[in-house]
Amino acid sequence: MRDLKAAIRTVPNFPKPGVQYRDITTLLADPEALAESVKRLAAPYRDAGLTAVAGIDARGFIFGTAVAIELGVGFIPVRKAGKLPFETLEQDYALEYGRDTLQIHADAADAGDKVLLVDDLIATGGTAGAAVSLLRRTGCEVVGAAFLVDLPDLGGADLIKAMDVPVTSLVAFE
Ligand code: 5GP
Repeated sequence: MRDLKAAIRTVPNFPKPGVQYRDITTLLADPEALAESVKRLAAPYRDAGLTAVAGIDARGFIFGTAVAIELGVGFIPVRKAGKLPFETLEQDYALEYGRDTLQIHADAADAGDKVLLVDDLIATGGTAGAAVSLLRRTGCEVVGAAFLVDLPDLGGADLIKAMDVPVTSLVAFE
């Protein structure tokens, strides 16, 4: 098994002083680490009866689409505001400074769907929490949330578990 953590580069002081940014582009450039990441993200959900994978703009599109193909289901893009052309549902959420908005197409899922949420990284959980709330408004069941990286000190995974969504992740940076 590859050491996926070693394939992720840490960039100090990005996007601002004091932040240790976990840069997954080095993992994307490593074909073995990339393939193994996708297989391991998908593994817990092979028998979950999924009907779709949803990925969060923008790095969640990379892993989410690959996981959807791996599991033989379709893909739902959860986008930043103003990008989707059809009728949308939207959800506001808090950032460290200010607020942002996520959108999905209103017909992206419905009550019969079982959806796995995928993103590259969970920190405070604000983004993933908004995505879970948004998806649930279609009536679908969010059966899990899968992340390449968890920053457990920031409590995001606990927040998502408190929304009754099981969380899996491959790498933790304390
Ligand atoms: P949260 O909402 O959980 O605080 O932040 C998670 C979101 O911010 C994810 O969509 C993730 O892509 C992005 N993010 C925050 N910090 C990092 C980081 O250090 N590395 C990467 N790759 N993404 C980050």
